[in-house]
Amino acid sequence: MIEKNIFETKIEFIKGVGPKRALILNKELGIFKFSDLLDYFPFRYEDRTLFVKINKITPSLGYVNFIGNVVSSKTVGYKRNKRLVVKLKDESGSIELVWFKGVSWIEKKISVGSKYNVFGKATFFNNTTNITHPEISSFEANKKGYFQPIYNTTEILKKRYLNSTFIEKLMRFVLVKTYNSIPESIPNHIMLKHSFIKKKDALLNIHFPASKALLKKAVSFLKFEEFFYLQLKILSLKKKREAFSGYPFKKNLLLSKFYKKHIPFDLTEAQKRVVKEFYKDMSSGKQMNRLVQGDVGSGKTIVAFLCMLLAVEEDTQVAFMAPTEVLAEQHFSSISNYCSLLGVTVELLTGSTKTTKRNFILDGLKKDTIKILVGTHSLIENKVVFNKLGLAIIDEQHKFGVEQRARLWGKKERYYPHILVMTATPIPRTLALTLYGDLDVSVIDEMPVGRKEIITSHRNENARLRVFGFIKKTIEKGNQVYVVYPLIEESKKQDYKDLMDGYESFCRSFPQTPIGVLHGKMKAKDKEFEMKRFKEGKSKILISTTVIEVGVDVPNATVMVIESAERFGLSQIHQLRGRVGRGESQSYCILMTKYKLSDDAKERVKALVGTSDGFKIADIDLKIRGPGNLTGTQQSGVLDLKIGNLSEDSLVLNLARNEAKKIVLEDPAFKLLKNKPIINHVLKNKNLNLNWSRIS
Ligand code: ADP
Ligand code: MG
Repeated sequence: MIEKNIFETKIEFIKGVGPKRALILNKELGIFKFSDLLDYFPFRYEDRTLFVKINKITPSLGYVNFIGNVVSSKTVGYKRNKRLVVKLKDESGSIELVWFKGVSWIEKKISVGSKYNVFGKATFFNNTTNITHPEISSFEANKKGYFQPIYNTTEILKKRYLNSTFIEKLMRFVLVKTYNSIPESIPNHIMLKHSFIKKKDALLNIHFPASKALLKKAVSFLKFEEFFYLQLKILSLKKKREAFSGYPFKKNLLLSKFYKKHIPFDLTEAQKRVVKEFYKDMSSGKQMNRLVQGDVGSGKTIVAFLCMLLAVEEDTQVAFMAPTEVLAEQHFSSISNYCSLLGVTVELLTGSTKTTKRNFILDGLKKDTIKILVGTHSLIENKVVFNKLGLAIIDEQHKFGVEQRARLWGKKERYYPHILVMTATPIPRTLALTLYGDLDVSVIDEMPVGRKEIITSHRNENARLRVFGFIKKTIEKGNQVYVVYPLIEESKKQDYKDLMDGYESFCRSFPQTPIGVLHGKMKAKDKEFEMKRFKEGKSKILISTTVIEVGVDVPNATVMVIESAERFGLSQIHQLRGRVGRGESQSYCILMTKYKLSDDAKERVKALVGTSDGFKIADIDLKIRGPGNLTGTQQSGVLDLKIGNLSEDSLVLNLARNEAKKIVLEDPAFKLLKNKPIINHVLKNKNLNLNWSRIS
């Protein structure tokens, strides 16, 4: 049954598919209809356009295509060792082809003296180059080379013989059926400007490249298309919000008072500049949507606090949201110190706030007796209702994701609250434009004076005694030490065991030293107790999981030992080591790993030892692990790119963003005739327009 709109036709109606196989393809690959199939791109191609001479074949070439005459064909070995060895020759040399399976069938197919086309991958065996189980067919003089698409499949699919070849067959069928109806998705003036090939040819060539050049063109068009629609969505959202009014916060007496009388240090130039940027936004009468980026320790909290004062002075309330309880508690304790100097009310709300206290807070928010509320995710629960929310601050945004950000906007009063997002992970520009492309950006690119660069070194297990010696000295000097163990969901049980074993081993090696332990399974009260004990210098070593990852501030701690460092992500370690180096003494980060490391792990360790520049680290991390891991926002969906690659495609992304910008500026509702392809494309791709209006 072919649908009116051919792209909507279900794949089960393709001959050879049927409901059962369709169901598996639905489940495994998310392919339901023709359009899904067309969007399922090969992940690589075998280049069969080139023919190599036999004497040039080496294992390093990978799969190769060549032509030769069969000189001999014989079976050797017995029983399980039985194999067919065929010797093939051209004018440059000869090579052995070997089959262990289907021996008699191949033997019949091949005759000595005839010429063949062969495709396979060479290996080195018994001092000669040979090829096991190549594809072989009788020589055709006119046979043209081609690119063989290879599609990703899963184990379940393979078991049912739904392999790459099967998908290829379906693809050929669907392309023939749809080719002539594939509409353009990008306005013609943009197509011409960038000399893009037609969309239908891009799709044809991404699946079945007619040449390397056409494959390249297909890829550049499809990447552009993907980024273009992503940016169009982000920029439309931004544009829409730019029209929102916000509370005009013009008074700054409270801020000045705090600044003149109470602030415990001089702000850096970068901090001052950023505060001015906020003030400009918040006093403008428009709603602010701003991201502030600053490496760990650059002093974002105080900047946030100054903004809060603007909101409080104009008699509105502030929500300050942090990703973990430990961090929320810390923010609360530093902010409430400042607040008490100024007589501003502030409360803390987290998952472990007791019911009576919680009710007191909820009531106070409604009655406007609480001006600042610090907390975790609990702040975006429906029960939390502010009297007049003027400013919402989200710390370490990457733990939240776009969805949750949207929920804060949902707490609308007369105006949308101003939004300030703070992130400590300096993220590469490409990623920033994708994740936060709807926000204006401020950067704190300067560290407070007097900070010394953290010295990072790499040690393996054999050096443990020396590391313990170093820790001992550190403690004797009066400083404190963090020791961090990995904790990963999949290996949670073992990881907790390692943490506790480690704790015991430290207790044995440092019998006189007070040692604390901190992890996510502990009750909030116990966590708070341990954290406080460490902050006050009562415990000297704090053994923990990554619960201390973000923002914890203990200036007297100067050594950070990271156990099994090879199991952490780069940015994560960068964040962790930012916990030290907060005071005046020289600080150290020691990466403990096992002796033998994978190449990938070596590269990461090397990067960390080599640089303390968060932006560089983020770039490397993005290359190694992809964007999802870096940001912890896999769930945000924005990052599930079909073909675009955030670590490689900054050029295309910029092109796409610029074109999208022009369109949003000139024709925000896409009403002009020339922009008709946009409307058509968005209507057809429901996943594209899903959030266009809903978020705001
Ligand atoms: P982050 O940007 O990582 O959130 P914090 O706001 O926690 O950094 O600040 C780190 C430490 O630096 C805190 O102890 C804070 O009081 C201190 N600090 C912030 N700004 C300055 C400054 N201008 N001069 C000196 N110390 C500062
Ligand atoms: Mg912070």
